[in-house]
Amino acid sequence: MKIPLLDLKAQYASIRSEIRHAIDRVCESQHFILGPEVAALEEAVASYCGTRFAIGVSSGTDALLAALMAVGAGPGDEVITTTYSFFATAGVIARLGARPVFVDIDPRTFNIEASAVSAKITERTKAIIPVHLFGRCATMDPILDAITGRGIYVIEDAAQAIGAKDTQGRSAGTIGHMGCFSFFPSKNLGAFGDGGMIITDDEKLAEALKVLRVHGGKPKYHHRTIGGNFRLDALQAAIVNVKLKYLSTWTAARRRNAERYRDLFNQANLTEWVSLPDDEPGHIYNQFVACFPNRDKLQAFLKEKGIDTEVYYPLPLHHQECFRELGYRPGNFPNAEAASRDSLALPVYPELTEEQQRYVVAQIRDYYSRED
Ligand SMILES: *Cc1c(COP(=O)(O)O)cnc(C)c1O
Repeated sequence: MKIPLLDLKAQYASIRSEIRHAIDRVCESQHFILGPEVAALEEAVASYCGTRFAIGVSSGTDALLAALMAVGAGPGDEVITTTYSFFATAGVIARLGARPVFVDIDPRTFNIEASAVSAKITERTKAIIPVHLFGRCATMDPILDAITGRGIYVIEDAAQAIGAKDTQGRSAGTIGHMGCFSFFPSKNLGAFGDGGMIITDDEKLAEALKVLRVHGGKPKYHHRTIGGNFRLDALQAAIVNVKLKYLSTWTAARRRNAERYRDLFNQANLTEWVSLPDDEPGHIYNQFVACFPNRDKLQAFLKEKGIDTEVYYPLPLHHQECFRELGYRPGNFPNAEAASRDSLALPVYPELTEEQQRYVVAQIRDYYSRED
């Protein structure tokens, strides 16, 4: 049986005519840059998340970059974040000349160990970027407590977490000062290319972000600040706006699949080998990531059986060659290093069937029964 990690063709088949209609509408208008399609998506995302402002941008990476620019992060500043994330989270910090300060993860959630953040704060700390990795919200309160009265910004990297809720029911991206989303095709709400969004309740930040995304020009051709071309395409906005209507249904299907994996792994007596993500009602499972002994061999075995999986992420950020000058060493963040060694993402996309999941778990069972 062939099982991809994600089946976007199946999703497209279910909404094809609506998407075609939206694309046609933009083509007929020939209005490709910002304009009503982008404004409509901004309003829809703000309402979906329950924030006052949403600013469409060119990607999740540019959402993070613009958010850091809006708070003035630059040389001499430190930005605290997790060492276990997609590269962009730390890349944007370094690109602005600021210094990434890494923190280890909670091995149960793969998210930043929030209780370790406060000890990393110095008078240079400009911002903290917790990441809601795999669609599960990071623990936010210790971070919010740590910044009280210190003029430090919290920018949530919610690229994988649109619609996720934390244990107190707060929506991902609304808990700190700004929240950043990505519409990269493999995210739960994916465009037909690149796109992103920043949400905030802060009117001043919203205004700064709108100016930054058009090169810092306000009025046009007059620049008090230097921004970039961080605009969201009208075509992408129109497509994402069609998909947004289905997001809650797709999320429910991902959650059902995660639950089913837990049942199937239990029934197969695999839970002594495999460390599964425990359920949290607000987890939206952009990825279903578990820890497996002999991960690399298991992955190769599954590949032979037609099952695609992925390692998120094979190198923690403090091991990246480009961050060598930061002076981190192997062993600095043992939980993230263990996760890099053991973690594997299994297919969990909404259209995945029970039969496919049974096949995945049966193959894993088979792999470990050969081992012992
Ligand atoms: C995808 C992702 C990004 C970057 O988003 P792009 O739209 O691909 O630029 C940033 N952070 C995390 C955690 C991501 O998963």
